[in-house]
Amino acid sequence: PAPKATPTSGSRTTTTSSLFSLVNKTIAITGGGRGLGLTLALAVVEAGGSVACLDILNAPAANEWASLQKLAIANSLHVTYHKCDVTNEQEIAEVIEAVAAVGDERGSVFWGCIACAGIQQQLPALEYPAADFDRILRVNVTGVFNTCKYTARVLKESRRPGSIVIISSMSGNIANRGLSCTAYNSSKAAVQQLCRSVAQEWGQYGIRVNTLSPGYIRTAMTDQLLVENPEVEKTWMAGALLGRLGVPEDFKAPAVFLLSEGASFVHGADLRVDGGHCASA
Ligand code: NDP
Repeated sequence: PAPKATPTSGSRTTTTSSLFSLVNKTIAITGGGRGLGLTLALAVVEAGGSVACLDILNAPAANEWASLQKLAIANSLHVTYHKCDVTNEQEIAEVIEAVAAVGDERGSVFWGCIACAGIQQQLPALEYPAADFDRILRVNVTGVFNTCKYTARVLKESRRPGSIVIISSMSGNIANRGLSCTAYNSSKAAVQQLCRSVAQEWGQYGIRVNTLSPGYIRTAMTDQLLVENPEVEKTWMAGALLGRLGVPEDFKAPAVFLLSEGASFVHGADLRVDGGHCASA
């Protein structure tokens, strides 16, 4: 029999601030070895949750990881790192199942994931090799699907509600002037539709799914684009209605909100956080 969805809102008896707490919850974050994913791991711990970072890197960025561990230890929370390729279905399934099992043992129940791992490649569309196009879609779409699917499976089997946040991009909504990122833009639009599709299926289990779509953020990913094409920063700044590009910290509160019970009626939605960029496009 299908598990019954558990109502996720405690708003009748709880305070607004407690709705944003992730206490006693464990979250898996792909792409959690550096950049935005690692900053969001810090956000989860700051909200009282435990976190498992999954990344294809052999080891996470040393300084940020040390800060994360320090904060977790000070608050008796758990942070773990797992080398994992999101395109490898067996690998991601095993890691998510193991993370959920350990969370249960420690009394910090598996609550969901942030699917943040992603790659980009800039090439003119007329010269884009099909193999490269496939590679981008494989990580950014199939990898996200694998992450969401095994997260939802574990939640459904344990008959618990939960929350899945997919990191899309404003590039899923607009084709950025001055950049040739056809595969990336297509992949980011695809995961927004992936989100709405699985939201239809998983809402009945109390599993919420949403996308968070950032604008430009200064990370290794954008630094690479700027090295390839330094002039493009002027184009980006022309759309920066708040006068600056994003930093990973800008996405901590939006991600925690979507994960938390404060968002218990937010499902199948896209939260765009771009400093007004799309409004000016
Ligand atoms: P980073 O490149 O800094 O971080 C992405 C991480 O994902 C890297 O550690 C990367 O490893 C890892 N990764 C790549 N492929 C895989 C894989 N197959 N399995 C597991 N991990 C993998 O990028 P950002 O932090 O900037 O981006 C994070 C997310 O935010 C991405 O989905 C990106 O598209 C999105 N985003 C970023 C924006 C920006 O301006 N930076 C704007 C909008 C959205 P490796 O380095 O080896 O590739």
